[in-house]
Amino acid sequence: MEKMKNRREEKAQNTETRVKRAQECDMTSPNWEFANMIKEFRSTLECHPLCLSDPIEEHRICVCVRKRPLNKQEIMKKDIDVVTVPNKGIMFVHEPKLKVDLTKYLENQTFRFDYAFDETATNEMVYRFTARPLVQTTFDKGMATCFAYGQTGSGKTHTMGGDFSGKKQNSSMGVYAFAARDVFLLLSQPKYQHLGLQVYVTFFEIYNGKVYDLLNKKSRLRVLEDGKQQVQVVGLQERSVSSAEDVVRVIEMGSACRTQGQTFANTSSSRSHACFQIILRKDKKLHGKFSLVDLAGNERGIDTSTTDKQTIMEGAEINKSLLALKECIRALGQNKSHTPFRESKLTQVLRDSFIGENSRTCMVSTEKYNSGYFASVYCFKCQEIIH
Ligand code: ADP
Ligand code: MG
Repeated sequence: MEKMKNRREEKAQNTETRVKRAQECDMTSPNWEFANMIKEFRSTLECHPLCLSDPIEEHRICVCVRKRPLNKQEIMKKDIDVVTVPNKGIMFVHEPKLKVDLTKYLENQTFRFDYAFDETATNEMVYRFTARPLVQTTFDKGMATCFAYGQTGSGKTHTMGGDFSGKKQNSSMGVYAFAARDVFLLLSQPKYQHLGLQVYVTFFEIYNGKVYDLLNKKSRLRVLEDGKQQVQVVGLQERSVSSAEDVVRVIEMGSACRTQGQTFANTSSSRSHACFQIILRKDKKLHGKFSLVDLAGNERGIDTSTTDKQTIMEGAEINKSLLALKECIRALGQNKSHTPFRESKLTQVLRDSFIGENSRTCMVSTEKYNSGYFASVYCFKCQEIIH
């Protein structure tokens, strides 16, 4: 009897909470019922977000996801936030669905990553668990690569190039600059000081299968492969740098060059891959290299409902290069003898990062999730890439 009474009370309490939550919900939003379901789902979770003191794991390939907060426009449009990152390796996507009888329900999908960052994570935090462990690799005569992957507007440039305060990007607060800072930090340590390493940086863009130098007025560069299968980007400027501040100035210059002459409606920067490299040399000979790539936005079909031929061709080229990249990473993950790097300019230029014993790769997928009524959400499944 007592038990039944308790259960009844519990049930009443649950209903009360549900009603209260529904009241708290903004019922003027067309999605309020879904928003409410998501809220309820979240209330059942135990959340332990990643914190700075968590251990950094060693991965040869590391795949992470970063959720960005809804922006002002999305909040104004009453978009709902359909992603939850409850802990350091899990991301839930709550997909609003309708049954045939028009009953609304959520389809909650779970994705696993090496690290999952929620909307409160800073660039420094993302860097700490992703690109930072790779800096060491370049000192140990290795090749390291870090990609930012995601739809346009999901936060790739924010993560790599530096966060924005208003319209202005703060180049010292992105993954490029943090990596450069740590290169100089390691360089000053007794263990590496005696090596006599010099640091150089390059910054280039691949747009529609063509390479342009961002440190030399976007001049077009040719990519050649010599008899020994060494890929050369002919004429690519390598700037000698001697401090982290030097590097920030170079990033600012290259970023400005990248976005120059673009209108918001016709921005080629979202349709190009930007590659920033930190190169260590000893007596001019290559010692190690870190390539940090801000990939072109992987638009979904519905986003590019265009008949403009150039845009279609660009989209096809982006898909081709992202697919080639996926195949290369897959081959890398399975230790396959053949890596199909020749399939695209992007993978061809990054060839030396895909071969060699001591190469390491990290992929940060950025996500924006604002669901319209039935807008399906895009999700980057790490399993698809690795296995
Ligand atoms: P992408 O390069 O993927 O197209 P951006 O980096 O340009 O996207 O980001 C789009 C907008 O979202 C920018 O205004 C940026 O400031 C904002 N943004 C992205 N990620 C975050 C974040 N984690 N926190 C706050 N604002 C963000
Ligand atoms: Mg961008």
